[in-house]
Amino acid sequence: MFSLQTLASGLLAASLCVPVAAAPPFFNPFVRHNLAATLGPQLSSGAALYTKSDSDFAKHDERWTQWNAPTFSAVVEPASEKDVVATIQYATSNGIPFFAQGGGHGYSGTLSIIQNAIMIKLQTNFGSALYNAHDKSVSVGGGAKYSVLAEAAYAAGRELTVGSCPCVGAVGGALSGGHGRLQGKHGLGLDALKSMRVILANGTALDVSAENNVDLWWGMRGAGQNYGVVVSATFNTFPETPGAMHYDGELILDGTQLEEVFEILNEMVPTWPAGLAFDVLFAAFPGSLNPVIVLSMIYAGPKREAAKYTHRFAALKGSLMFSEHMYTWADLPFKAAGGSIAASCGTTKLRSTYSNNVRTFDPKVQRDAWNKYGEFLQAYPNANGTGVLWEIFGTQRVTEIPANASSYAFRDRVTMIGLLQFDYTDPSILPGIEAYGKAWRQQSIENSGWDDDKLYVYPNYARGDEPLDSLFGYEHWRIEKLRQLKKEYDPTDAFRGYHDVWSHPGKDHHGHSERGDLK
Ligand SMILES: Cc1cc2nc3c(=O)[nH]c(=O)nc-3n(C[C@H](O)[C@H](O)[C@H](O)COP(=O)(O)OP(=O)(O)OC[C@H]3O[C@@H](n4cnc5c(N)ncnc54)[C@H](O)[C@@H]3O)c2cc1C
Repeated sequence: MFSLQTLASGLLAASLCVPVAAAPPFFNPFVRHNLAATLGPQLSSGAALYTKSDSDFAKHDERWTQWNAPTFSAVVEPASEKDVVATIQYATSNGIPFFAQGGGHGYSGTLSIIQNAIMIKLQTNFGSALYNAHDKSVSVGGGAKYSVLAEAAYAAGRELTVGSCPCVGAVGGALSGGHGRLQGKHGLGLDALKSMRVILANGTALDVSAENNVDLWWGMRGAGQNYGVVVSATFNTFPETPGAMHYDGELILDGTQLEEVFEILNEMVPTWPAGLAFDVLFAAFPGSLNPVIVLSMIYAGPKREAAKYTHRFAALKGSLMFSEHMYTWADLPFKAAGGSIAASCGTTKLRSTYSNNVRTFDPKVQRDAWNKYGEFLQAYPNANGTGVLWEIFGTQRVTEIPANASSYAFRDRVTMIGLLQFDYTDPSILPGIEAYGKAWRQQSIENSGWDDDKLYVYPNYARGDEPLDSLFGYEHWRIEKLRQLKKEYDPTDAFRGYHDVWSHPGKDHHGHSERGDLK
């Protein structure tokens, strides 16, 4: 994803920050008055505990989006596995919800079911990475950012698939997939996972891998947020790209070339190289309501090789800007697309998405989508950070891995991921957002190029109103297996915030959420 405010200029733009939403009333008097006194002594000396009575509490529970965000009555920064266990046991025995925060960039609307919870904030003391020379793996804490994982691998001359954005949680991403530019070469983030240390809701700590707790290993690689807190994870790595430099081409077009862009993409997709990764984006310059097309073209290799795939775009008439750079792999998340992806790391905004995966583009449909995007900007000028993004990455290694190897369902449907990403400040425009978002998604389903008219969503990009099988697979056994695992490992449904496998359109089995009817 991009910070659409920064894209066109490639500079950090003024951010349209909104104040942190006022926290809901802290209604549990026992917790308000006693949490510091009762939970505090159970934590190690390195841990920290913040409650609403701390004047700077708002800075401790920040998240990427305020839309349908979870809310918190306390934040614990554990310093040890024991602290995580103690916090979970305290929360469950007092009937208080808890929530493991990794990178804080999850944005599913389902997270709003978590209210007045204790946040277990992992990034502070579980945010580092260590390269293991003996088997060339990297072990990370459950809150390590993608940039931390990448830097540890890169320093050892290794690489793996990480997301495009440096500040997203590496474990949070991998639990539902871990889609990234090198996936054509190395598979998804979850495919690189070697093992995880998981704390269940009853406080039990488990080693989870292909050798230990293998049923949970299957479920946690695709629907992992449903079962436990991952305090640490180990990822396999791969030899770095020869030359260790990656091509970055950035092209901005005025939109007259739209049909040509999508026709060229359609021609390229059947033979898309494993190391090529494009982002194609409808966006607007800061302060402008006129859309532009932005192409971010990244290739794992030298410029002369990249040119084989980029020259037709670079030659399009009427481009507003074209620039080329070579970056190290570890620098890519910060520098690609003019730094605009890294700039999307901020907090305290209202952001949400609609998503669908497609096989081909119909240029006429994309023209219509472009027109509708322009109409949205005119109608809602304060939401001009909104954009329509297509991510087109290699799929070779992703599809080589058998579909039943993990609970990640749509290996053969990750060809082109579409995201309509809203970025706005005025919550009253939500009805307009929903009307446009649902219409865009429906148009995308009907013109996806698949041999059915089904919705295929990458779970980490889901809004949360989609049917569960559009995230976890249309083969019924998949959801059934995930629910069996839930019964075994999380029978009280403590981990219900992120696409709970119990939920379905209508009330879930606790009467908690209504998928398909988010606020
Ligand atoms: C700007 C931006 C860019 C993105 N780019 C990419 C990308 O390139 N590729 C990609 O695949 N995805 C990408 N995503 C999506 C991202 O993978 C998901 O939003 C993911 O949920 C973020 O994980 P997090 O740890 O940062 O978020 P959090 O909000 O901390 O967590 C999200 C969910 O995962 C759970 N969770 C997180 N860590 C743990 C843990 N250690 N143990 C147990 N549960 C945990 C949380 O409890 C929560 O339910 C992007 C998102 C954003 C906002």
